[in-house]
Amino acid sequence: MAQQLCTIPCITEIPENYRALWELCLTDVWCPVSLEEWRDRIDSPREIDADSTLFVNLSPSDREELAQVFGFPAVKFPALPSIEQVNQALPSRFETTHLFKQSDVAAGITERIRQELPQIVVLLVFDGLSFYDVVDWKLPQATLEPCLVDGLSVTNSAMQRLIGSPVLTHRLFELGYIRRLGFSYWERAMNALTDVLFAEFPPNQLHRMTTFDEVLRKIKASVWETHTYVQIIRSGLDGVCHFNRERPNIKSILDDLKRDIFSLLEVLQETEKSFRLFITADHGILWYADQDIIPLAQEKFNARYTDVSIAGGDNLLTLNTDEGTYTVLTGDKVIAKQRKVTEWGFHGGVSAQESLVPFWDVRQ
Ligand SMILES: [Zn+2]
Repeated sequence: MAQQLCTIPCITEIPENYRALWELCLTDVWCPVSLEEWRDRIDSPREIDADSTLFVNLSPSDREELAQVFGFPAVKFPALPSIEQVNQALPSRFETTHLFKQSDVAAGITERIRQELPQIVVLLVFDGLSFYDVVDWKLPQATLEPCLVDGLSVTNSAMQRLIGSPVLTHRLFELGYIRRLGFSYWERAMNALTDVLFAEFPPNQLHRMTTFDEVLRKIKASVWETHTYVQIIRSGLDGVCHFNRERPNIKSILDDLKRDIFSLLEVLQETEKSFRLFITADHGILWYADQDIIPLAQEKFNARYTDVSIAGGDNLLTLNTDEGTYTVLTGDKVIAKQRKVTEWGFHGGVSAQESLVPFWDVRQ
């Protein structure tokens, strides 16, 4: 990108929903938000701490003035930075990036629906799904943005991070969503994580399911007399990445997930009630690609992280989380242990593949 930008300031347009991701990757680039900000700064004696200047998504009048009066060129960017660009920038900016964060999902959803209070609010969470694997999916009336898994990218921590504390159910109950409908593969009593994720769901409003079709049938048969919050945890690609005899057919699993989203949308539309559907995932997956092995600890180690604190070193990042301190691997070139022959993907580290999950906001 640096070659494309030069000493002359440039003008560009970037899809607003991918702007934060671009800003993560545009290191050493100053992006003034307006012509006025640019004027103020170049007139001030303070030095500009960047190699180049890029005007992103300016107002038409600012844009025209910069092009006509100053003759600044327009440059064209792809809609998204590449995975390589993200992997280069993410480790050093993991804490400071302005990407939408997983720990803000529960508060974010509450804010987004507060004004309109649609009759039905649905949160569909996939266990294991990467943002970059779904960027070309076209869901109707939906915006897609990348969401940063801002902590350890493993199921237990990530699911709890996105459900929030207080849990989303609780926040929505306060807005009038007194009826809840929960769907999980596990019983609350049998699984500690399910117990946390579905806290505050009365037993008669939580359904154990074995297939997504059951969810669709239950929603179809439901009567929507009052504001209702629907929470669905569906398996994504996490299961097949850890244990599969043959290399999993990722494309066909992704197609299944997409088909289920469309079926869910159809069923929601048939209710003829106002609804808002949010779709996200706990973490993404770094697929096996002959990565080099750099062991992180002597015993009990995972492919991408350890709870031992290791200072410094290439491809290492220390994460201080509520659950403790972890050392994680960054980028997509290394893993920390010999892969089992049945293991096709890894997560727990910090990379575009593991740390960026989709966040769809679908309006009726
Ligand atoms: Zn998971």
